[in-house]
Amino acid sequence: MSHSLSGEQSIGNERFTSGEHSEQSVNAGELTDLSRLCIHTVTTKPWPIEEAAANFSAAGVKGITVWRDALEGRDIRQTGRLLRDGDLAIVSVCRGGFFPGKDGRKRKAAIDDNRKAIEEAAELGAPLIVLVCGSDPGQSLEESRKQIREGIEAIIPDAAAAGIRLAIEPLHPMYADARSAINTLQQANDLASSLDSKTVGVAVDVYHLWWDPDLEREIKRCGENGHLYAFHVCDWKTPTADLLLDRGIMGEGCIPVKKIRSWVEAAGFDGFYEVEIFSGTYWQQDQSQYLKKIIKAYKENT
Ligand code: ZN
Repeated sequence: MSHSLSGEQSIGNERFTSGEHSEQSVNAGELTDLSRLCIHTVTTKPWPIEEAAANFSAAGVKGITVWRDALEGRDIRQTGRLLRDGDLAIVSVCRGGFFPGKDGRKRKAAIDDNRKAIEEAAELGAPLIVLVCGSDPGQSLEESRKQIREGIEAIIPDAAAAGIRLAIEPLHPMYADARSAINTLQQANDLASSLDSKTVGVAVDVYHLWWDPDLEREIKRCGENGHLYAFHVCDWKTPTADLLLDRGIMGEGCIPVKKIRSWVEAAGFDGFYEVEIFSGTYWQQDQSQYLKKIIKAYKENT
């Protein structure tokens, strides 16, 4: 990662090797400070980015991932400066992708939009773009996957020239129809490996991948390949009232977030833990109280 985390890492490593082996073998060590906490702008969607930045900074949050809609109508360079002045590392931009389309014009428009995302990320000063790869229900998954590969290949030179990396984010199979034809970490790892570019890696999101019996093995492989670029956390609620907008705060559902974090750390990941929650319920509540809940859950359940 481009930011320095040496201080926290040495603490983390020390904790990891100084005993507590029985607990460590199951879960990661406690997160005692917020030095690796990043929050996505979409998590506190009712706040404009300026307000989110001010509140995150005041609470001691150290990173922010910026959704492109949060930049609408703004001078992007100036917004980047504002975030950095608030001592927030800009972790990534969400999102690029949505490459497949039965219609060739749609595919071309998608590539143009991804090039725009690369420009925006460069102006903002973000090192990474997360790719939600897309899928078209009017064609086979195999065809969508082929078009995803072609789309990523088309933008690699632009991203590389701008010094920006791309992270393929596998999505839960419930989104295979229209959001992503890349649904397991194995598929994302395979794609990143076969593209064989220093620019392309993977984003691991517990919401999409927690159910996968091969998850531990594939996280290890992702780390060994040097492709583990980002780690997103939240929780899975039962029942889930909305397939998109009912994510929970860590500890509220059935995802073993701590266990998955231990796998990610064992794979060598030293970046931010990014809280990404889409929730119609939480967006209706007082966002300051909600931020306090997120920070408590980060320390206790992440
Ligand atoms: Zn995510």
